[in-house]
Amino acid sequence: KPVVAIVGRPNVGKSTIFNRFVGERIAIVEDIPGVTRDRIYGEAEWLNHMFNVIDTGGIMIGDEPLSEQMRVQAEIAIEEADVIILIVNGRDGLTAADEDVSKILLRSNKPVIVGVNKVDNLEMEEQIYDFYSLGFGQPFPISGSHGRGTGDLLDEVFNHFPSDAWDEIEPDTIHFAVVGRPNVGKSSLVNSILGEERVIVSERAGTTRDAIDTSFVSDKQKYRIVDTAGMRKRGKIYENTEKYSVLRAMRALERANVVLVVLDGEEGIIEQDKKVAGYAHESGRGVVIVVNKWDAVEKDDRTMNEFTERIREEFSFIAYAPIIFVSAKTKQRVQKVLPVVKLVSDNHQMRMPTHVINDVIMDAVAMNPTPTASGMKRLRINYATQVAVAPPTFVVFVNDPELLHFSYRRYLENKLREAFSLEGSPLKVIARRKN
Ligand code: GDP
Repeated sequence: KPVVAIVGRPNVGKSTIFNRFVGERIAIVEDIPGVTRDRIYGEAEWLNHMFNVIDTGGIMIGDEPLSEQMRVQAEIAIEEADVIILIVNGRDGLTAADEDVSKILLRSNKPVIVGVNKVDNLEMEEQIYDFYSLGFGQPFPISGSHGRGTGDLLDEVFNHFPSDAWDEIEPDTIHFAVVGRPNVGKSSLVNSILGEERVIVSERAGTTRDAIDTSFVSDKQKYRIVDTAGMRKRGKIYENTEKYSVLRAMRALERANVVLVVLDGEEGIIEQDKKVAGYAHESGRGVVIVVNKWDAVEKDDRTMNEFTERIREEFSFIAYAPIIFVSAKTKQRVQKVLPVVKLVSDNHQMRMPTHVINDVIMDAVAMNPTPTASGMKRLRINYATQVAVAPPTFVVFVNDPELLHFSYRRYLENKLREAFSLEGSPLKVIARRKN
C-alpha cells in the first residue's frame, strides 16, 4: 500500500489531519494498554483505495530543538513515504522552520504537497499565496478540524502515488516479518535461518525505497522475509528513536502473514518487548515468539518452563503464540522455526464449513449455557459462520449483540480455538443481531 507521511512544525495540526485521515478505522483485534494511545501510523481510505499514513510529528520526543525535530521528521518521511504532505499554518504565515524543512524535502525526489492548515473559510484562502515560495507548486488550503479542502489535497496526493505502490502479497508464498527491539538478534536469526537452509536467496526491492525482502524456498514452500533491510543497523535515527523502529516494524507487519517476535533470552523481557508483542497482536497476523540467545543462558531443567511462564504472564494477550527457544549463534533449534511459521500460516488461513462451526458453538452453549443477568434478557445464539480468514473471523447471530459479554465471547473464542487447533493465530468473534 502507498504511504503518505505528514511533516510540519509542532502545533500546525498534523495529528488532527492524521486522525481525520485514519479516523476510527482500526484493524485491531483487541486493545493493548499503551499501544493504541500513541499511534503514529495508520491505515486510511480515500475513494475506495487504502493507503497508510505516518504522523512524523509523533516520532520525536518534545525536548529536542525544533531544527533537529524537523530534520528527523523530514528524513523519516523521505525514507518511508511515497508522497509527503508538508503542513504549514496559514494563520502564522511562512516561518523559517517551514523553509528549513522544505530545503531538506526539496533535495529528495519525493513528491511534496503543501497543505496550508487552519484555513477555515473562503475569505482566508489568500493565506496560501505566501507558501508558493517553498517550491512545491500550488499549496492546498485545508482545515484539519472541519475537513475543508482535505479531499482536494488527497486527490493531489493520489496523483503522485507510483503505479506499483499497491503491490499485493503473493498468494502461495508465506511472508513473515522478524520484529523485536534492537540487539535481540533479529538479523543474526535471519542469517542463521538462511544459512541453515542453504537456500537460493533473492533480494527484491519492496515498495519503500529502503525495504528489501528476501525470498527463498525451503521444503518446497516459498517464503519471503519482509524488510530485511529494516533489521540492519541504520545509523542515528534508527538507533536513537524507539518509535522509529516500531514504525519500521509496523510497516513490515503490514506485508506479512506471520510475525516472529524475537526476545533476548539472556536479557529477559523488558517493557519494550511488550509493546512489540502488542503491535504484533494488534496487526491480526499469525504470531510466533522466538526466544533467542538460549546458548548464553545458564539453565537447569526448569529454566525453559520458567521462561515460558514469564512470557505467558507478561504477554497474556498472545497466549495463542507458540514459543521456540533458539540460538542464532549455535543454530540450536533454528531448523524448527520455518515449520512452525508454516503451521501458523496454515492456521491463520484456516476456513471451516458452517455446520462444523455450529456444532462447536452449540456444544459450547450446551456445556455452559448463555448467562443471564438479573432483569436482563437471556442471550440466544441462532447460528454462527466464518466470514473471513487471516485471521479466522466468526460471526455469531444472536437476539441482541449487547448481551454477548466479554467473558462469554472469550469462552466461545476458546472453544473455537480448541476445536480447530488455531495455534499461533488470533481469531475474532463478532456478534450480529438476527432473530
Ligand atoms: P538485531 O539488532 O536484533 O538485529 O540483533 P543482532 O542480530 O545484530 O545481534 C545483536 C547482538 O547479539 C550481536 O552481538 C550478536 O552477535 C548477538 N547474538 C545474536 N544472536 C545470538 C545468540 O543466539 N546467542 C548469543 N550468545 N549472541 C547472539
